[in-house]
Amino acid sequence: MISVSQALRIVKRETGTLPSETVILSRALGRVLAENIAADSDMPPFDRSQMDGYAVRSNDVKNAPVLLTIVGEAAAGRGWHEKLKPGQAVRIMTGAPVPSGADSVQKIELASESNETVRIQEPVQRGKYIVKKGAEIRKGTILFRSGQIVDEKMIASLAAFGYARVKVGQRPSVSILSTGSEIVGIEKQPGRDQIRNSNSVMLKALCEHAGASVKILRQTGDDLEKLKGVISKAARHGGEKSKIQTPKSKILIMTGGVSVGKYDLTKAALKDLGAEFFFEKLRLKPGKPTVFARLDNSLVFGLPGNPVSAAVTFYLFVRTAILQMQNASETGLPSGHAVLESPAKAAAERDTYLPATLATDSEGKLVATPLRWHGSSDFVGFANADALVSLARGSASKAGDVVKILYL
Ligand code: AMP
Ligand code: MG
Repeated sequence: MISVSQALRIVKRETGTLPSETVILSRALGRVLAENIAADSDMPPFDRSQMDGYAVRSNDVKNAPVLLTIVGEAAAGRGWHEKLKPGQAVRIMTGAPVPSGADSVQKIELASESNETVRIQEPVQRGKYIVKKGAEIRKGTILFRSGQIVDEKMIASLAAFGYARVKVGQRPSVSILSTGSEIVGIEKQPGRDQIRNSNSVMLKALCEHAGASVKILRQTGDDLEKLKGVISKAARHGGEKSKIQTPKSKILIMTGGVSVGKYDLTKAALKDLGAEFFFEKLRLKPGKPTVFARLDNSLVFGLPGNPVSAAVTFYLFVRTAILQMQNASETGLPSGHAVLESPAKAAAERDTYLPATLATDSEGKLVATPLRWHGSSDFVGFANADALVSLARGSASKAGDVVKILYL
């Protein structure tokens, strides 16, 4: 048995990185940046009005109410490009460039206009309602770095600075194979002793969220020869089309069949095919029988069949490999700390990850409540989890203790 941290080191050691590719911005969400993103201009690019109102010289209105002559109009996209002189005002809209000579904007609510004059009712501070050129960002500033994952909030910045196309890490290709003679497709009515295949689609979603492109393989049941056939085809060709894939950049995920039952055939199939095993037993709960191997062109993860174990081991190991292949700078789940709501215990020999919900208490503390669930098969309970509470093997924590959490 090896520890989780040793296993992670092995996964990182065996995982390569893919070259980058260029995608249009609307396809960049969730992808890993393969270039630094820099501002190609100041933002705002000119002194910009924050309000609809009148561009004025603050000195002219310090004894307001006063009357000023309206000499022009600055709209967004069509500025007034002369110089404002004493006693003058320019009608201005939100987003329009502030004319030179003006040093502030008085909002429309504090002004009344008639016959090309405006009565400014109150004085206005110098600089008021103007966002100065470059105040938000200076030209040349690095906004995001290579290795960051593009999220929804970053899209506007990429767009505003002209990144209509972005360099990102290529998507790793992942094939998913669920073993188990009891497993039927999700569109089927399960017969006696059967259950629907919830793992394949769950893992597909998890992989895609991490940036991979995914193919779900045909189910084989627990039949050694069929299993070997599907595995060897997937490991060699992997279904992926034209992309450059190296032996360290393609993944086969299998679920089920990794423990010691009579019909647990995953390891036997991989061994028969000549796979190189890196680990097959971890000091981990859930996920002790997790397998990591290489076969032909693929890294192979054999995850336990129980859906929660499959999810937890995905988060710990497979996600790491997928992100590393894309050259992500952070490959682990974001972590933090929380106060335990109720006592929790790790397994004696195994680092333990407990699915938990998170909430903030009345004092503002983040509280983790381990799910009251029915074990690693309880995917319905797991659906409510916000985090994994990470407990070192052999440890016991009391209610109120601060524990490490991994955000899901
Ligand atoms: P195994 O790891 O093959 O011993 O399976 C452990 C448990 O997970 C069994 O109760 C299986 O029925 C269940 N299981 C295995 N594969 C899947 C799957 N693809 N979807 C849902 N449950 C599964
Ligand atoms: Mg099975």
